[in-house]
Amino acid sequence: MVPLSDAQAHYLFGVMRLGVGAVLSLFNGHDGEWDGAVVQAGKRAGLLCVQGQTAPLIAPPDLWLLFAPVKKARTDVIVEKAVELGVARIVPVLTDYTNAERLRADKMQAHVIEAAEQCGATHLPEVAAPQKLALVLADWPAGRDLWFCDEARRGSPAGAQALPGPGAVLVGPEGGFSPAERAHLATKPFATGISLGPRILRAETAAIAALTLWQVTRGDWR
Ligand code: SAH
Repeated sequence: MVPLSDAQAHYLFGVMRLGVGAVLSLFNGHDGEWDGAVVQAGKRAGLLCVQGQTAPLIAPPDLWLLFAPVKKARTDVIVEKAVELGVARIVPVLTDYTNAERLRADKMQAHVIEAAEQCGATHLPEVAAPQKLALVLADWPAGRDLWFCDEARRGSPAGAQALPGPGAVLVGPEGGFSPAERAHLATKPFATGISLGPRILRAETAAIAALTLWQVTRGDWR
C-alpha cells in the first residue's frame, strides 16, 4: 500500500479527477515501474495498492551534468533535458560569471520528478546543492573524467573520446568561463576541453549537445 501526500492526492483526485479503482503507473526511482490501483481517494490523502511490475529499472550511465545556473526558465530546460537524455546526477556550479536568480535545489528536484514522469524514466537523478566550481574541482572523485565544454575551443574538432568509466560534462553560464577558470581547468588531469562546433551555443543548447555527444560516444545510446 502506498499512502499519498497532500499534493499527490490533490493532483490525482482534484486535478486529474481519478477515483477508486483507477490504475496508474508508479515509480520511486529504484524499483522500476509498477501498476497501482486507487483504493482510497480523498481531497488531501489517498491510498494506492501496488499490483504487478510493468518495467524494470533503467539506470542511466554514470554521467554527471555540471552546469552554471542561468535564468529560471532556462535552468528548468537544462534540468528537464538532462533527465530525458539520461544522467545520474545534476550538479549546479557557481562560476565566476554565473548570474542566476536565487536557486532552489528542492524545486529543481521536483522538476526532475516531473520530467521523469513525462518521459517514462524510472530513475531519478539527484540534484546536488549548488557549489562553487573551484570546490567541486578540488573535491573531484578519483576515476571520473570531465568534459569541459569550452567556448574558446569552438571550431576545433570536438575532442570527444570514448573513455571507459564514469564521466561528467561541464557547461558554463551565459558569460562563459573566466580566463582564471580556464587556466585552473587546464591544470586538472581529469578534465578535457571539448568543442561543440563552430557556433556559440546558449547554455541550455550546449548542455543538450554535450550530453548527446557523451551518450553517443560512450553512454547508453551506443
Ligand atoms: N558568452 C560566451 C559564450 C557562453 S555560451 C562567449 O561569448 O564566448 C555558454 C556555455 O555553453 C559555455 O560556457 C560553454 O560551456 C558552452 N558552449 C557554447 N558554445 C560552445 C562551443 N561551440 N563549444 C564548446 N562549448 C560551448
